[in-house]
Amino acid sequence: MPEGPEIKRAADQVEKALAGRPVNDLYFAFDHLKDYESILKGTSIEKVKTKGKAMLIHFTNGYTIYSHNQLYGKWYIRNAYNYPKTNRQLRLALHNEKKSALLYSASDIEVLRDEEVPFHSFIAKAGPDLLSEPVTAEDLISRFQSDKFRRRKWTALLLDQTLIAGIGNYLRSEILFSAGIHPDLRPIDCTKEQLAKAAHACIDLMWRSYENNGITNDLTLAERLKAEGAKRYQYRHWVFNREGLPCRLCGTEIVKFKAGSRRCYYCPNCQSNES
Ligand SMILES: [Zn+2]
Repeated sequence: MPEGPEIKRAADQVEKALAGRPVNDLYFAFDHLKDYESILKGTSIEKVKTKGKAMLIHFTNGYTIYSHNQLYGKWYIRNAYNYPKTNRQLRLALHNEKKSALLYSASDIEVLRDEEVPFHSFIAKAGPDLLSEPVTAEDLISRFQSDKFRRRKWTALLLDQTLIAGIGNYLRSEILFSAGIHPDLRPIDCTKEQLAKAAHACIDLMWRSYENNGITNDLTLAERLKAEGAKRYQYRHWVFNREGLPCRLCGTEIVKFKAGSRRCYYCPNCQSNES
């Protein structure tokens, strides 16, 4: 499942391909959106933004296409009308004279007036997007300590899009490892130092992943492993997808377990359950 950094990179690509030129042609697969084809045709795209895993394509005539990829959605950018070979269902197509931006498999697509965007059910509830809003570590520490969040386990909290928008499953494991926090703990169990580490880990790893094509591992280490012949899945993360392999810091075997029906990984030594 794409997480905030992946959606932000997709948004950058859609913006690069389409912003500033009129959209000559567009296609919505869903009947209830068909009327918007003529409303948006010939209008330019001003900018493409994200709120966590949601993408917002802003048109100059005051309309915005909202999309959320959920588990299966995937964007393709191609030269105009060059469709990829795929068994996926095309759900949205935006074409200008040079490029096509094609969204496959996603079912969560809406067209909103700009003024409706803040009240959209997902957007209204979503927490800050660390990649597109100025959020400090202090802001995050206050959120962790708030009544709403402090008594919930980190494993549930980090996937809750109302805490921070855009953290998904691999970032959850990577953030807890980087902060040295055992997955069974809650913010209320943590020291100030641990809360600060967690806040910095959220910001740093979201940005590292966004800027480095999904890598959350230490970049120097990842480069070295790559130079030694390691595959992407072998150098990409600290703990995620590394069950039974030695921790990169202490050599202890990485443990995998299910948290909220989704896999989570941690180092029992680096992430002890004492605060
Ligand atoms: Zn370790």
